[in-house]
Amino acid sequence: IDIPHKQVKKICCIGAGYVGGPTCAVIAYKCPHITVTIVDLNQARIDAWNSDDLPIYEPGLDEVVKAVRGKNLFFSTDVDTAIKEADLIFVSVNTPTKKSGVGKGFAADLGYVESATRHIAKVAESDKIVVEKSTVPCRTAQSMRKILDSNGKPGARFDILSNPEFLAEGTAIRDLFAPDRVLIGSLDTVNGRAAAASLADVYGNWVPRKQVITMNLWSSELSKLAANALLAQRISSINALSAICEATGADVDEVSYAVGLDSRIGPKFLKASVGFGGSCFQKDILNLVYLSESLHLPDVAEYWRQVVEMNESQKRRFTQHIISSLFNTLTGKRLAVLGFAFKKDTGDTRESAAITLIKYFRQEQAKIAIYDPKVEESQIWYDLAEPGVVDDVTALKKQVTIASSAYEAAEGADAVVICTEWDEFRDTKLDYEKIYATMNKPAFIFDGRLILNQKKLEKIGFKVECIGRSRLE
Ligand code: NAD
Repeated sequence: IDIPHKQVKKICCIGAGYVGGPTCAVIAYKCPHITVTIVDLNQARIDAWNSDDLPIYEPGLDEVVKAVRGKNLFFSTDVDTAIKEADLIFVSVNTPTKKSGVGKGFAADLGYVESATRHIAKVAESDKIVVEKSTVPCRTAQSMRKILDSNGKPGARFDILSNPEFLAEGTAIRDLFAPDRVLIGSLDTVNGRAAAASLADVYGNWVPRKQVITMNLWSSELSKLAANALLAQRISSINALSAICEATGADVDEVSYAVGLDSRIGPKFLKASVGFGGSCFQKDILNLVYLSESLHLPDVAEYWRQVVEMNESQKRRFTQHIISSLFNTLTGKRLAVLGFAFKKDTGDTRESAAITLIKYFRQEQAKIAIYDPKVEESQIWYDLAEPGVVDDVTALKKQVTIASSAYEAAEGADAVVICTEWDEFRDTKLDYEKIYATMNKPAFIFDGRLILNQKKLEKIGFKVECIGRSRLE
């Protein structure tokens, strides 16, 4: 970008989570001349980043972190020093959903963004470029600007940029190394454009220039919500079609293959499943719903709300299907739940479909054995416990066990339920004959991710039920 601007030498990232950690580790890896310090208030998380056992699992992350940690990448809880020393500060804190007392539904909880921004204003002694990395409702940068301008020290001037992150968990490092695009939103002022140019230079160290796109601040903020809303909408659309497939004899894999060949539609994100999960899709759509409501656009709000509703309905429908197949009752039956993470190649369980399904199975008095290759046992107990219900953990442990392999989970089970599409659950990897031998008969498999070869498993003797595939003869 052809205007005079400063070269960034020191970066601070506030928030050492799924986004801040990998994103800034990759910046340090690709930019040896820049010192990157990632800070967090959570001491345990920072200790883990400084250890051999990183706090999050992402393929390739270990190698990147270990190559540069202690050289130009540092993890610390000393937020003040990192802010003071940096020329550019990423705000990459969590922006969870909160139930809104005033609106009709949910809103983004911007408390963490606000307190990180106030922290910057309080300690910064020189000019800073402050970058929204968190996903935020449109016009959040305006609130940050007001906080910075009214609380900052006299010698410090702040420029705000929006630089939303498009990485997907499970492929974060690959996505960061070769992003489809990097978006930088700025105010259309000389200072705003210069700040954008400084950040563009950082990415320019490895991302081709034509993929680093600058635009107005509000477009950039909204683009992130729009991208997630459209991705989630595709999943809800194919899931809505999967229900029609089951009732008519069509096969959803064939339908998505056929429609995906249309170059206007394309094949990606058209896999039917038990529903999307993860910390972002639902949250970002609810964000858009709230934004639409506050802009007095009720029809628009309702339109996006239906994407989330369809996702919930898919989980209920899948559960109903399981109950009716197992002779209309789950009482005392044993279900082996394979997969607890919200998708493969991550240990993240936020909004995982498995959590909702297991809640339904428990309500139906089933016994459940869970196996996931990456999710920690303590995380599973945490996710399944009803907050505030003291006795629940005892009741929970009577109904639920955690297995150390798929084989162990399936022993004595009436049904295997595939909740996460881990490669190791495929029929080319797992010995389903061995599983069949130890199960109650008839032995069912419910494939919530369409990863299994139905015919092959039926030959073994299983009764196989798949999302979006008809039970009609
Ligand atoms: P996370 O919860 O894993 O990490 C956020 C971290 O910020 C936490 O460790 C928390 O302790 C820390 N934090 C909060 N307030 C702080 C403060 N004032 N000072 C220092 N540290 C503070 O969240 P995440 O998954 O990394 O997501 C961060 C943001 O990125 C969210 O807005 C999310 O919507 C967005 N995002 C997430 C993904 C994803 O795949 N997870 C992808 C794109 C964008």
